[in-house]
Amino acid sequence: MKNYIKISFLLLLVGCKSGSENNNSISEVNQSTIGQHIERLASDEFLGRMPFTEGEIKTVNYLKEEFVKLGLLPGNGDSYFQDVPLIEITGTPSEKMTISGTDRDFDLNYFVDFVAVTLKTDNEVSLENSELVFAGYGIVAPEYDWNDYDGIDWTGKTAVVLVNDPGFGSGDSTLFKGDEMTYYGRWTYKYEEAGRQGAAGVIIIHETVPAAYGWNVVQSSWSGAQLNLESKSPVADVQAWITSDAAIKLFEASNLKNKKFKEMARNKDFKPVPLGLTTSVKITNQIKRDVSRNVVAILPGTERKDEYIIYSAHWDHLGIGRPVNNDSIYNGAVDNASGTACLLAIAEAFKKVEQPKRSIVFLAVTAEEQGLLGSAYYAENPIYPPKQSVANINMDAIQNPGPMKDLTITGYGHSEMDEYAKDAAEKQGRYVIPDPEAEKGYFFRSDHFNFAKIGIPVLYASGTYEHFEKGVDFVKQMNDEYRQYRYHQPSDEFDPQTSELSGIRLDAQLFYEVGQRLANEDYFPKWYDSSEFKAAREDN
Ligand SMILES: [Zn+2]
Repeated sequence: MKNYIKISFLLLLVGCKSGSENNNSISEVNQSTIGQHIERLASDEFLGRMPFTEGEIKTVNYLKEEFVKLGLLPGNGDSYFQDVPLIEITGTPSEKMTISGTDRDFDLNYFVDFVAVTLKTDNEVSLENSELVFAGYGIVAPEYDWNDYDGIDWTGKTAVVLVNDPGFGSGDSTLFKGDEMTYYGRWTYKYEEAGRQGAAGVIIIHETVPAAYGWNVVQSSWSGAQLNLESKSPVADVQAWITSDAAIKLFEASNLKNKKFKEMARNKDFKPVPLGLTTSVKITNQIKRDVSRNVVAILPGTERKDEYIIYSAHWDHLGIGRPVNNDSIYNGAVDNASGTACLLAIAEAFKKVEQPKRSIVFLAVTAEEQGLLGSAYYAENPIYPPKQSVANINMDAIQNPGPMKDLTITGYGHSEMDEYAKDAAEKQGRYVIPDPEAEKGYFFRSDHFNFAKIGIPVLYASGTYEHFEKGVDFVKQMNDEYRQYRYHQPSDEFDPQTSELSGIRLDAQLFYEVGQRLANEDYFPKWYDSSEFKAAREDN
């Protein structure tokens, strides 16, 4: 850990694509550096790296010290830390959510038919006879000329919305992105949009297939303590889900009785429909506040130091929890000591050659496991102006069992970062493929997504399917084993004897080379016209 004697000083000289005159040396990301950091971060000493615990203190101090050793400067003024104030809300909803119409009243039962949370920090939050309005998919998407909220003053009202987006299951690949989930299909978007519209409440109708998870996941994720940012953006008082059975009951009692409400919502000319019903529900809150930390360091550029390439990886994991086979420490070797170790190894690779023209930021974020909160806080309180942030390269749970022939890009087709990745992959003799499970919305489930939301083009990729020598089936078996036996379990541990790091190193090398190339150009990669994040770049 203390010295880097084993560094291989293999410097490859490559022609700079932009044809510019200098700084065309690249170095090698060191595999043993990656291994040493994974081993430390995933050791029991770090207690599973849970925010607000001794494990957090150890982790963030370790990262800071490593950044200092590498000769990187503090990334937040004179500090290596960015405080992330978090709020824990434990809400207890009323047993019943009442639905009242002109000729019929009925109740929905908590947990069985509905769940409800609030991000408001009042001791008690409620909807009282709030008018229910069907708002289709709850989407405002200028690039599709789509507005499900149009023409209504939403003050005091509750929007009832469908899960996913109109393209899903429509058989029409030109409607939104067909079966590929857009951000408009995510529950997070629907809650955010209802807040922007000034609605008092928002109710999402759950359906297992378009949501990509069952009601049991909704029940467990939307009950108990919820860790969150104290958001600056407006939020609806009550954010709820109801089952599809409850929704059928609700529509039967409404103005849309016997109407094909889903087909209506798929129509571009859809306008919100008052249901002729009101709802009441109450949530009592217990509030706790605490501060976690992002760790951030910078390597300043020589010529364009006000332009930034941001590498990110979440440092946190699940801490100490329910024991499995007498082990209660959730070490998180893959998730995400791997990405955090790559962050440090890439920083080391940058330090071995001439300083780049643009600045390189290394950001280890907190509370990813609790809902991408550290990166969300960064996005709401960016240290570096988003407009001058050239790109984000995010690393999360890199676990390939050796050098991979593919580079699978999650969120392929959004921006020219695809092209940068493709060029770097081809140099390594690899090919690029889009995430084959794009309907599951993985693009929205790690930290890069919060950078995309503020308009910064992102790269989130890794070798996932085909080993250079061992092919496809071997990797599939390893991936299945990881998902079944290690993912989010105490067995996600690191064994220096058996761990194969050459694949992780190859991916890290690729991320380093993409960043190195961007750092020595003056070009800003663009979002493609079809991307829902393009508008955010222009607004910034
Ligand atoms: Zn995780």
